Amino acid sequence: IDRLEVNFENKPCYDIVISDDFSNLRDELVKLDIEKKKICIVSDTNVAPLYLEAVKKELEGLNVFVHIFDAGERNKHLGTVSEIYDTLIYNKFDRKDILLALGGGVVGDICGFVAATYLRGIDFVQIPTTLLSQVDSSIGGKTGVDFKHYKNMVGAFYMPKLVYVNINTLNTLPKIEFTSGMGEVIKHGLIFDKDYYYWLFDNSEKILAGDPKALAHMVLVSQKIKKQVVENDPYEKGQRAILNFGHTLGHAIEREKEFVLSHGQCVGLGMLAAFDICIKKNKLTEGDRDFLKNLMEVYSFDTDTNMDMEKVFEATFNDKKMEAGKIKFILLDGIGRAFIDREVSKIDMLEALNSIC
Ligand code: NAD
Ligand code: ZN
Repeated sequence: IDRLEVNFENKPCYDIVISDDFSNLRDELVKLDIEKKKICIVSDTNVAPLYLEAVKKELEGLNVFVHIFDAGERNKHLGTVSEIYDTLIYNKFDRKDILLALGGGVVGDICGFVAATYLRGIDFVQIPTTLLSQVDSSIGGKTGVDFKHYKNMVGAFYMPKLVYVNINTLNTLPKIEFTSGMGEVIKHGLIFDKDYYYWLFDNSEKILAGDPKALAHMVLVSQKIKKQVVENDPYEKGQRAILNFGHTLGHAIEREKEFVLSHGQCVGLGMLAAFDICIKKNKLTEGDRDFLKNLMEVYSFDTDTNMDMEKVFEATFNDKKMEAGKIKFILLDGIGRAFIDREVSKIDMLEALNSIC
């Protein structure tokens, strides 16, 4: 069992606990006075059959309610939020009660948003069950939902009281979802930690075989990177933007592919495209690009793309991260060192997209 303490505005705010089962969950929740509260577990239709009973068993004797919604990004909208409000109102939840988000990033983002807004804010705990949510979305306090066709358009910064990770939930994760999480994991190495990046290559067999030690190490290092970046810039006024490496073009690819490809897969392609710009600026080499492509293939990314790049290009300029007409583009100044560049031109981006075709 590992533990990280996450600060918010320079004060200790919540712990991340990494375990290989749920047996420490109750002890952790007791620290939040859970015995005096109503608890609502929010989960989705894929995760609940797998892990709800195990979590409920740990909470035996407590005042537990459950809300389950249909799995999938397409349900990450205000309608689902509204149904959870109904459950909470019907069961007379008040401001001292607590929500547990049991699932991937969709469950965490929705449940976090409900927690941020119900009665102007009640406590919530993240129990992330996908690789992506364990290393990325459960940390840093971004919550929210999609609105119409805009992704994450409505939301709030709202910190959980605890993030409890059971690494063994990864055993049931479909391969495509594991690869999606690896997109963010590889990104962490690229933007922050060169040794970790190469470690991911050297230990790929163990990681892909589900070796618990290797997985736990990977999740922990990635969490430490995300934690450090968000602690330094909780509201994304500056450096937190480096977490968007690969995302500007990645989001556009995601949209042009109509969300058939996973988020992490698209981030991978976006990073590969961004490498082209770094190479032109003499910050990375062709060898670096070959290495990334190879690493992505080891982790089952599809690097053989067939896309309408003009459409991807158009989508790039509809991205909400565009500020005053200039995109904050994240580049690397060598492996492990990210920086924000505001001078990346449309031509650079189009050429970068074409470089991965
Ligand atoms: P997800 O929650 O949809 O999970 C992916 C799929 O795996 C779902 O079908 C889910 O039901 C299933 N699943 C979850 N855990 C499982 C398990 N242990 N075994 C088997 N199946 C399981 O998606 P995700 O990739 O976890 O998260 C993506 C979401 O996270 C997006 O909505 C994205 O916007 C959001 N996100 C948020 C942040 C943030 O900072 N808040 C950061 C990155 C991404
Ligand atoms: Zn991402």
